[in-house]
Amino acid sequence: MTFVETMALPNAVRLIDDYHLDRPGVIGTYVLLGDEPALIDPGPTTVLPHLEMGLQALGLTLDDIRAVLLSHIHLDHAGATGTIVARNPHVKVYVHQRGAPHIVAPERLLRSAARLYQDMMDYLWGEFCAVPQDNVVPLSGGEMVQLGSRKLQVYDAPGHASHHVVYFEEASGAAFIGDNGGVCLPGSSHSRPATPPPDIDVEAWVQTLNMVLDLQPKWLLLTHFGAMDNPARYIDDYRTRLLQWADIVQNGMQSGADEAAQIAQLQARADADLGASADSELGVRYQQAISLEQTWQGLVRYWQKRAEREHAAGNQDLI
Ligand SMILES: [Zn+2]
Repeated sequence: MTFVETMALPNAVRLIDDYHLDRPGVIGTYVLLGDEPALIDPGPTTVLPHLEMGLQALGLTLDDIRAVLLSHIHLDHAGATGTIVARNPHVKVYVHQRGAPHIVAPERLLRSAARLYQDMMDYLWGEFCAVPQDNVVPLSGGEMVQLGSRKLQVYDAPGHASHHVVYFEEASGAAFIGDNGGVCLPGSSHSRPATPPPDIDVEAWVQTLNMVLDLQPKWLLLTHFGAMDNPARYIDDYRTRLLQWADIVQNGMQSGADEAAQIAQLQARADADLGASADSELGVRYQQAISLEQTWQGLVRYWQKRAEREHAAGNQDLI
């Protein structure tokens, strides 16, 4: 059984555990039930057999799916989209307009991901099929996605990525926030920042979190992993943690310590947050959902880009 029965979820929403690399509770796909069933973030192609098993347990198949809603186009969320559309050409794919060109012609996306994952690409994510342009519905925020009688409002939501959206269903109070809520895996009470390269933006992220709070959601739905029924407390805690981790990385950069020492410092903080060591089963699942090295690299890049921007602005003032 791969759909999650033990977790409370909003009305007519189900969560399929995608068992990424056969490990539970790392990547999840939400199923919106109703007269036009839809998936939110189908996961990578490597998990498709598990996704199909989960659908089957819900009395559905891929043929029943009318839409795929992508929070963003990172491969752990969006990798299977093209394969699903190839099997069911009626599926509409909702995606941020900045991400849309890269699922239609994925070469740049795959090159960028290969820099991070190198020879692990196939093992982790499997094939990435291009999504035909005609299936794609580009979003910029402000749209309403209508799925039969269900309505989801779309919000532009930069932070974890510049091409991230949040879907909010007012009727159920469900905010599908993708990776903008970081990672909070079953068995842990703490969130972990999800800050991979190349385009995280901490200031935009804080604004996005505040925007989600203003919606007064009853639920936050994370891809990694599950439904949080205490949105205000969760976001408050996550925002604090994100800023703390950004500070740790900035202090590390300024200390002149070498890269390994800086990452070890962040790892120590992560282990303390978790109350578990990196090699415990929970630690391994966190590392699979978002590696510490990538978390560190993403924040380093953020600080470097910010310094460049400030430097350029400073030069501007002198002219
Ligand atoms: Zn992501």
